[in-house]
Amino acid sequence: MKTPDQSLLKQDLLRIREDIVCGFHSGFPPCCIKFFVTKWLWMGNTKARKDHWKKIRRVRCFDVEYIPCPECLKNKTFVKLKKCPKTCAKLKRVKAWIKKEKKNAAKSKRIK
Ligand SMILES: [Zn+2]
Ligand SMILES: [Zn+2]
Repeated sequence: MKTPDQSLLKQDLLRIREDIVCGFHSGFPPCCIKFFVTKWLWMGNTKARKDHWKKIRRVRCFDVEYIPCPECLKNKTFVKLKKCPKTCAKLKRVKAWIKKEKKNAAKSKRIK
């Protein structure tokens, strides 16, 4: 059996820590955060994941910008997103990523 790449796994786990903290910033229900970090992230491209995704799309009454857990999905308990504080590590990571992507897009335009 192949051992998983420990450094990648470490990166993932550290990122999950940010996801959890940020989940609370956003006001997500703890059960959904738990579902996201313990199940959803590791489901890969499975049928269970696709089915859950289909259900989300079906019951969506307003734009849910997170993955609700099966329980909340069934009861249609969704929350509206709250804003992150400026100190949010995930917010910073996402902003840095967007900046990089924009730079890359500008670069590839110049080449064409
Ligand atoms: Zn946050
Ligand atoms: Zn939930």
